[in-house]
Amino acid sequence: VIILGIETSCDETSIAIVQDGHKILSNIVSSQIAIHKRFGGVVPEVASRKHVEVINVLLEEALNDAKLKLGDISAIAVTYGPGLIGSLLVGVAAAKAISFAKGIPLVGVNHIAGHIYANNLIKQLEFPLIALVVSGGHTELVYMEDHHKFEVLGMTRDDAAGEAYDKVARTLELPYPGGPYIDKLAKEGKATIELPRALMDNGYDFSFSGLKSAVINTMHNAKQRGEYIAKEDMAASFQEAVVDVLVSKTLKAVQEKQVKNLIVAGGVAANQGLRSRLKEKCEQLGIDLTIPPLELCTDNAAMIASAGYFSYLKGEWSNLELNGIAGLPLSP
Ligand code: ATP
Ligand code: MG
Ligand code: FE
Repeated sequence: VIILGIETSCDETSIAIVQDGHKILSNIVSSQIAIHKRFGGVVPEVASRKHVEVINVLLEEALNDAKLKLGDISAIAVTYGPGLIGSLLVGVAAAKAISFAKGIPLVGVNHIAGHIYANNLIKQLEFPLIALVVSGGHTELVYMEDHHKFEVLGMTRDDAAGEAYDKVARTLELPYPGGPYIDKLAKEGKATIELPRALMDNGYDFSFSGLKSAVINTMHNAKQRGEYIAKEDMAASFQEAVVDVLVSKTLKAVQEKQVKNLIVAGGVAANQGLRSRLKEKCEQLGIDLTIPPLELCTDNAAMIASAGYFSYLKGEWSNLELNGIAGLPLSP
């Protein structure tokens, strides 16, 4: 079974071809980061226009790379939410057009499910499992008993982890998106600054806005008093606070749900601090940990094709009424 994946939910346009849900035949990602950088964040209007400009070229590239024709494709999997509505619609319209013109089945995929299924590109998912989803817009702990069965145990009550990274990075005058820059700085600094760890021993929900404000206030007050705080130390302290909370809640979920398998998903899964702490803890506890390589943590269409493959097998197909849904939940 060969799935063509299409992803345009935010500022990456991506088309991929994946065989049997795990074998990547091609995965072309065109990032708009360079365009949005000067605005310090994604400008939705600009994002959708750019998707329109490149999507056809990417489709050809993806087919060429895989040495396939549209006639070889079993189904088209497309992200239909959550995300920026204008961006989502570009991918959905393209998918519907190809589906209609070539008579290829269509499968709508939830973007967060896609992030989770990036792990299936590395190692076949084994159930039951806990998935820690940490992306630009989401922070969720998910329990899965089987394919596409998502039980959300907890989520953020305010900012997502990636969002907090990007906002703290802006305070430290680092480029957008700031996650990778903080990650790099954190390695050079010491976690000496005291910062809050919200809801630490309190259920599975997260809250990162207090932590973000604490960083902003600490930097601001130091400046007013003419004191110097090394950016490296602030980055290290912030990262330690985030990792403490993420790892402690994730391990609690793994233990309470008595699962052996832990997978991590979303852009923040690229974080070296998070990866190394999870690796260390999981080795100690005998938990089977999977984290995708960096390029599969951030947005890409291979993960959408992988998630779509399992929907396709279950017969959960979409029709031409498929529409983009900006606030699509992971589990209804
Ligand atoms: P969502 O998936 O929730 O719709 P998104 O698609 O914009 O949001 P992703 O592409 O999954 O988010 O991830 C982007 C986020 O990951 C950004 O906030 C970015 O700063 C963060 N990020 C990327 N690399 C790292 C890193 N090494 N450390 C921390 N954060 C990182
Ligand atoms: Mg992005
Ligand atoms: Fe994403």
